[in-house]
Amino acid sequence: MILVVGGAGYIGSHLVKELVEKEEVVVLDNLTTGHEEAIDSRAIFVKGDLGKEEDLEPIFSKYPIKAVMHFAAFSLVGESVQDPYKYYENNVANTLTLLKMMLKHKVENFIFSSTAATYGIPEDEMISESSKTSPINPYGKSKLMIEQILADFHQAYGLNYVVLRYFNAAGAHESGEIGENHDPETHLIPIILQHLLGAREAISVFGTDYPTEDGTCIRDYIHVTDLAGAHIKALEALLDGSKKAETYNLGNGVGYSVKEVIETCEKITEKNANVIYADRRAGDPARLIASSNKIYEELGWKAERDLEKIIASAWNWHKK
Ligand code: UDP
Repeated sequence: MILVVGGAGYIGSHLVKELVEKEEVVVLDNLTTGHEEAIDSRAIFVKGDLGKEEDLEPIFSKYPIKAVMHFAAFSLVGESVQDPYKYYENNVANTLTLLKMMLKHKVENFIFSSTAATYGIPEDEMISESSKTSPINPYGKSKLMIEQILADFHQAYGLNYVVLRYFNAAGAHESGEIGENHDPETHLIPIILQHLLGAREAISVFGTDYPTEDGTCIRDYIHVTDLAGAHIKALEALLDGSKKAETYNLGNGVGYSVKEVIETCEKITEKNANVIYADRRAGDPARLIASSNKIYEELGWKAERDLEKIIASAWNWHKK
């Protein structure tokens, strides 16, 4: 049995849909940002908080949990700057409670959702796991704190872990049943698609004076189903004992500017966007592109879906 914390959220629900094909799954989610209907019906669902021992205790006592995957975090850079307490409380303190209960119940395997935001403003064109970590916002700091805690817990308590640093997750499940469904939505691709469906007046491009070819920010977009596949590879490596304490980047290795993403959305949807050029958003680095060579070499994982496939899958879901 695998415990997926945050399995009702965007990335967690896509992982659960793949994981139930291979393992028994219990999902813990408090539904503050997740959606119960997004949880695959083959998983057991428990509504509760990862920061409450009384919610965790019955799960660890009842089910033979082999590993925990943790997706239940707040993840908006701008919000983390405005309200850092919210981020340190949930992403750090509540995660510590989860880890404490894992130690108590001798659950030794943990997969942690981390982020490219741990790198801050990168010095390297292609970011590798050995690139310097220097987060510039509380969201990135909260994730890096847990990464550091995991390294210490591995040394002291023998807790095994894989940290996965996601670049820009996007896209929807190929079934069209689940997709990116945040409220409010702040992410670029769903905002563009909502606009092209008529649900928004226009799209704002945040900053046109970045030191990039067209002046807009460059990101490495990765399909959520590719992310799910990486979690399954990481789980297998923890369970067979071949990996005990690893950190991997998850990206496509290709960067697209905000303008290029808008153009690709226009092409796929055959609609024209109404674009407003606006000021920069606080906390945005100019360019984030992953090298995912390490996980390819060690676990044989690489992203299979490019930006067009990502947008096409998201469009398929948004239209519904
Ligand atoms: N962005 C934008 N307009 C929007 C939303 C996002 O120009 O309405 C830009 C944002 O500034 C960043 C990129 O799109 O450069 C990706 O932002 P998103 O919020 O999707 O992901 P993040 O990189 O913050 O994780």
